[in-house]
Amino acid sequence: MKKKECPSCAMNVDESSKECPICGYGFVEATPWIKYMAIFLIILFLLTYFVL
Ligand SMILES: [Zn+2]
Repeated sequence: MKKKECPSCAMNVDESSKECPICGYGFVEATPWIKYMAIFLIILFLLTYFVL
């Protein structure tokens, strides 16, 4: 079983676990659409900045 390190308590926990069993830290994967939205907003900002 693959392990990953908890960024909160530095314990090795299961790769598949959604939260750390020791400290309860939630391994929330950044949802892709937020990244795309951020990139889109940056592009939109740059476009309006250069146009105006
Ligand atoms: Zn932890």
